[in-house]
Amino acid sequence: MKIREKFPILRNNPGLIYLDNGATTLKPISVIQAETSYLENISANPHAIDYKTGFAATEIITETRVKTAKLINAKNTNEVIFTSGTTHSINQIAFGLKNFIHEKDEILVTTMEHSANLLPWIIVANEKKAQIVKIPLNKDTGININKLVEVITPQTKIFSFVHASNTIGFENDVKKIVQKVRTINPNIIIVVDCAQTIAHTNVDVESWDVDFIAFSAHKMYGPFGLGVLWGKIALLNELLPIFYGGGMSKEISEDLINYKLASIPAKFEAGTPNISAIAAFLAALNFLEEIKIEKIRKHEHELKDYLRNKIKANKLDLKIDFYNLENHAPILNFNAKNVNPQDITHFLDFKYKIASRSGAHCARRTEEVYGEKTSVRISFGVYNTKEEIDVLIEALNNIDKFLDVIF
Ligand code: PMP
Repeated sequence: MKIREKFPILRNNPGLIYLDNGATTLKPISVIQAETSYLENISANPHAIDYKTGFAATEIITETRVKTAKLINAKNTNEVIFTSGTTHSINQIAFGLKNFIHEKDEILVTTMEHSANLLPWIIVANEKKAQIVKIPLNKDTGININKLVEVITPQTKIFSFVHASNTIGFENDVKKIVQKVRTINPNIIIVVDCAQTIAHTNVDVESWDVDFIAFSAHKMYGPFGLGVLWGKIALLNELLPIFYGGGMSKEISEDLINYKLASIPAKFEAGTPNISAIAAFLAALNFLEEIKIEKIRKHEHELKDYLRNKIKANKLDLKIDFYNLENHAPILNFNAKNVNPQDITHFLDFKYKIASRSGAHCARRTEEVYGEKTSVRISFGVYNTKEEIDVLIEALNNIDKFLDVIF
């Protein structure tokens, strides 16, 4: 079966050119069927292990945890926590570290972070009178390893940064960054937002030696409403949960003062899990395992190279500002002179059936990187083709005609 045939949405929407994979990827039939099959055939609450379907539900969670650990090369399966997404995972890390952050401590971030990796830190920092320190970037570079020594101080407690930006598309070299950070100040807790890379390149927590990572299932051909928080076991044991409830309580004293919480991963998974999504996520992990991340990366690099060459051959860079043309992530951001980004995305949609995205892309400080508040973003996935890029190039060549189409 060819890859595109595995995605019913492409068959149900003939001509759709889906270039918004940075927002969410489409779902293969195996993922859709796994979710419905769970609801049709099992549909039990996983904490109920007293009967066969309840036991089957619990088995699915165990298997998915094991597969997730394998994907990110985590040695201990219990370090994989299921959340509702990257946003939930980073909130859990930031608020869970509250007792560890004190007045005048510094939390290091970059100007290319998504709001999910800025707001939780800003709120915790404001509450604890700590300081947020940002690493400025320019549009063609990510974190400059040689300059880390200028921003890391003895007060730096946490460094949270994105693996690949959802706007400028730059992919940071996590391993080298971590090595450098550890030589400057070995006590810093390092958090990496892998939302944009988990389905596009290898994520290896063991060789990176990071402390926490976060990602979302829906950006990796999986279901909505599910994500992962991975952390080093020693830190997870210290981290405070942000949700409390069933599944994670071990004891509650008669006077309702004292309690004991379950150990990880249950400690961070209060309440009934999104079990049908976990079943679908298992199918997504199988899908990725079957295709192989290296092959996806190679395909997306080829598409980006093809696009880059076409842009240059068509001299599109004379009328359009591309912000990250040379970068490797399967993302490209741009602005056409004197055209509102939303007019461009509407033009691409109405005339060419190209699904792209306009706005700030929830990464509001990227404005400091390329001097514009908003832009158009296109982003690739495993099913995109060179033929689709040809259509995009034709559309970009005709971008001046957007007024005729929209109004
Ligand atoms: N970080 C990055 C880099 C992202 O691209 C996104 C999603 N756009 C998020 C975090 C948040 O992911 P979610 O909305 O799935 O929680």
